Amino acid sequence: MSFVSHLESTFDGSTLPARTLQTIHGGKPLLVRYDLAAIAAATRRESLRDRAPDLWRYEELLPLEQRENRVSLGEGMTPLLDCPRLAERIGLNSLKIKDESQLPTGSFKARGMAMAVSLAKELGVTRVAAPTAGNAGGALAAYAARAGMEAWVFMPGDTPAVNIRETSLHGASTYLVDGLITDCGAIVKEGVGCMGWFDMSTLREPYRIEGKKTMGLELAEQLDWKLPDVILYPTGGGTGLIGMWKAFEELEQIGWLDDIRRPRMISCQSSTCAPLPRAFAAGERESQLFEDARTVAAGLRVPKALGDFLVLDGVYESGGCAVAAEEDRLLEWMQLACELEGIALCPEAAACIGAIVKGLTEGWIQSDDRVVLFNTAAAQKYVELIDGPQTWIDHKAVDWSRISGQS
Ligand SMILES: *Cc1c(COP(=O)(O)O)cnc(C)c1O
Repeated sequence: MSFVSHLESTFDGSTLPARTLQTIHGGKPLLVRYDLAAIAAATRRESLRDRAPDLWRYEELLPLEQRENRVSLGEGMTPLLDCPRLAERIGLNSLKIKDESQLPTGSFKARGMAMAVSLAKELGVTRVAAPTAGNAGGALAAYAARAGMEAWVFMPGDTPAVNIRETSLHGASTYLVDGLITDCGAIVKEGVGCMGWFDMSTLREPYRIEGKKTMGLELAEQLDWKLPDVILYPTGGGTGLIGMWKAFEELEQIGWLDDIRRPRMISCQSSTCAPLPRAFAAGERESQLFEDARTVAAGLRVPKALGDFLVLDGVYESGGCAVAAEEDRLLEWMQLACELEGIALCPEAAACIGAIVKGLTEGWIQSDDRVVLFNTAAAQKYVELIDGPQTWIDHKAVDWSRISGQS
């Protein structure tokens, strides 16, 4: 049923069997490998036409063996929205936003968790745990509930309120931790022995990448199998960028791309948590722990990622870069996109707008590049960041001069 051939260690390239539970090898992540020649022989991209518009439509390029093990909340294809007003304002001819905020639980973490929880179910797991900066916790809790599994989630105490509440609402045992996501990760790792849970941390199991890979597959299909010039991706742990880069490689191998030119991958972070831009500027392949990491874009608050070298590999190979947007301007860019286009842009994706502005100024983005930006979550999940209006109206004596702005 599946075309998976093996798991490959990014530590030393060695091969591990796929049909058993695996975590990491030599301290590094595992990548799922497929028999791509067999996929190319068995499937044509035209066959997608008759399939449901969700991420499972790419099943040949996904690791699940049995369809009945799918754990799904209806993770539909997300729209690729043209943004002419925003493009004009920031100096681009063409900007498209892939709006991942419309996925279950309001973030693209649904893609990774749909796949990882499905595989966990297929491989007999009944208890899962993960650290989270916010959205991964909500998504894990929801998909674990859907699968009838027990879930434990550990998150920094200053995680956005909606994430804390949604995680707990979906029945996960939810704990606030007086530390960063890296500290939460250490708790989950330590608990594997005494709690007997499976560690679903970013890149500590091989399948979240495969779920996030579908962003790249979908994008290629929506653009008629010609990739854009530039992709901006708000990067925390990096699975999305790693997944998309892997998707493009696999699509090229199975011959589905009409034009094999790859986009420049721009990994976007915030100036106050910028381990990847720092490593990129120094020409390094790995990042250093970023001290005193903080940012209102909770999903970017990862001071050191396990898969940093895989993100940087993709960035270097693509001719892209890793760039830090100014933390103090994230809210302004978020509002700009929300107001001009009606898209509920999250603060993480706002960092990508900052990166575009920087790229145009510094010359590594041209105004006629075809640019795609990923809106990884819904603005509504960040209530603390958004000021509501405080303008009250007396319904018995409406003062129209105030409403018409003439007072
Ligand atoms: C998790 C998250 C990110 C970072 O995703 P990675 O693929 O782990 O780099 C970006 N934006 C939002 C909203 C997130 O929740």
